[in-house]
Amino acid sequence: MSQSVCILGVTGSIGRSTLKILEQHPDQYSVFAVTGYSRIKELTEICKQYRPKCVVVPSQKVDELQQYFKAENIQNIEILTDEAGLITVSEHPEVDVVMAAIVGAAGLLPTLAAVKAGKRVLLANKEALVMSGDLMLQAAKEYQALLLPVDSEHNAIFQCLPQNYLQIERHGEPQLGVKQVLLTASGGPFLNHRLDELKNVTPAQACKHPNWSMGRKISVDSATLMNKGLELIEACHLFSIKEQFVTVVVHPQSIIHSMVQYVDGSTLAQMGNPDMCTPIAHALAWPERITTHVPPLDLFVHSQLDFQEPDVVRFPSLRLARNAMKEGGLAPAILNAANEMAVAAFLAERIGFLDIPEVVEHSLNHVQNGSADSIDTILQTDQLARQVASQRITQLES
Ligand code: NAD
Ligand code: MG
Repeated sequence: MSQSVCILGVTGSIGRSTLKILEQHPDQYSVFAVTGYSRIKELTEICKQYRPKCVVVPSQKVDELQQYFKAENIQNIEILTDEAGLITVSEHPEVDVVMAAIVGAAGLLPTLAAVKAGKRVLLANKEALVMSGDLMLQAAKEYQALLLPVDSEHNAIFQCLPQNYLQIERHGEPQLGVKQVLLTASGGPFLNHRLDELKNVTPAQACKHPNWSMGRKISVDSATLMNKGLELIEACHLFSIKEQFVTVVVHPQSIIHSMVQYVDGSTLAQMGNPDMCTPIAHALAWPERITTHVPPLDLFVHSQLDFQEPDVVRFPSLRLARNAMKEGGLAPAILNAANEMAVAAFLAERIGFLDIPEVVEHSLNHVQNGSADSIDTILQTDQLARQVASQRITQLES
């Protein structure tokens, strides 16, 4: 039977890749709802082509969307607005699969709504899990949602773990013969930059990733290695393992997407060309497989694979994220909120590249940690961390 899909953040890089896969399998999937935030013309084009039943935009964009709809003679698509609209489509009874591909904390409540409605949730929005890890996983268990990783590394780890790994009880120690997880990192565009060279790098340089084409926020996170820090936290939650069982390995070619080491000396790796369509297709179809346009890996072309240890002196974000995970509680939410603010300020050319981890560390030191036992507490702490980060950004500017 055909599966009905809701794509949160359809105008983004992951959203578009999801559409690419769905259109290759029209008998298996239909698009029920899509959501966008700013690129309304592109959203209209998507509505025209895929004819969803619902579309969600911010209320201040409704007029613009209606004008485009009128010009294109698009009818019979219900327009919903704001966070309430995002939640409505995420938990809609007609939806089977939710692609959580909004960037940042804005994706938390819709993603959680999808989980609480027991959907198959394809998780790209790592920030949501970083903020609310334990609560999100508890909810997935309670409401029998299938939370499947789309982030290429976590998807790779999932593919290398024993089949039933997500179903078994886990409490921090790796199970079923797993010894540790090796999380690969490309190292980003500044892997070989000296510390003094990092000081003056520009947003355009930071957004030019050597292997992946992604949204601007995650591109900057890849350049600072905060992306790997967020992914470390993501892995601890998804696979219920403590941070000491996750080792980050810099692998500049991005051919191995991550690995799992077993107690018998085996190391399993998932490999492929760097294209998000592969993990998206995997999460959509799991436990089955569907075709994609991604060409098979040609190992005669990619004949050299390199590995090195990450440098936490030039890239302190990784250290900050690991410490936040070790501390637990609200620390990951503080880290995430401060990072979102700092990245936005860097992209707006208000602060320098090396100021990003500075703002994050400052915020971690000035916002009280505590137990992340409710979504309200997490959201309040997120707001507080944003205020503290914002003040620090203003100080650094002057
Ligand atoms: P993007 O910037 O290309 O797209 C983000 C999407 O979120 C857009 O559709 C935008 O309209 C929407 N959005 C932004 N702010 C919003 C708000 N306040 N409210 C509602 N919607 C909002 O980002 P992306 O690269 O597609 O990444 C999306 C998520 O997937 C991120 O969490 C990222 O970390 C994760 N991810 C991306 C990749 C990748 O290759 N692009 C890989 C792994 C994980
Ligand atoms: Mg990733």
